[in-house]
Amino acid sequence: MIKINYNQEMENLIKNLDGKKTLLLHSCCGPCSTAVITKLKDFFDITVFYYNPSLYPETEYEKRRDEQIKFLNALNKQEKRNIKIIVPTFNPNTFYDAIKKVENFENLKEGGMRCYACYKERLEATAKFAKQNNFDFFGTTLSVSPYKHSDWLNEIGLNLQKELGIKFLVSDFKKKDGYKLSQDLSKKFNLYRQNYCGCVFSLKEQEEKETNN
Ligand code: SF4
Repeated sequence: MIKINYNQEMENLIKNLDGKKTLLLHSCCGPCSTAVITKLKDFFDITVFYYNPSLYPETEYEKRRDEQIKFLNALNKQEKRNIKIIVPTFNPNTFYDAIKKVENFENLKEGGMRCYACYKERLEATAKFAKQNNFDFFGTTLSVSPYKHSDWLNEIGLNLQKELGIKFLVSDFKKKDGYKLSQDLSKKFNLYRQNYCGCVFSLKEQEEKETNN
């Protein structure tokens, strides 16, 4: 199977843009968004969509949301930008509804099929909002993480593009040291960086790892 270089595809797309376009950017957290926004901010008029019903517990959802806002405020002030943020109502049931059909979902490790359903639910909500609100593109920060499957994210995004008629920004933000950049920028902006992906199952997985070490 030919492996598609989605980072290259994104760079080609950006090169051919006819002026600055509006982008609804799904973001999982402030730290991941640092490198992604840095890469895109000169080419897109970005609105961050902090939509993460998978997060557990709710205090963790709030903590990551606040760090996301802290980063945007600092960047906007520093660079005189106006990157906005939309925070839909937090409803964890949407996550559980999305994953409940995945066999053995409670016991899968991060990266298994539970994650495919979780990516799909978040990207679908982002695409629908982008379409309803006339954005030119939608996209996600998720591919900056080496723990996320970029091929799944791009497959889901491109299917939604076809289904809903809203352009998807293909990506693989971890390429060209993107993940390292997100670590460096998180330090620079003094952001809290979590040590588990987000849901209760990934928290349990992390706790087990720590116990066994
Ligand atoms: S491990 Fe992360 S991507 Fe996978 S289901 Fe949990 S929150 Fe979603």
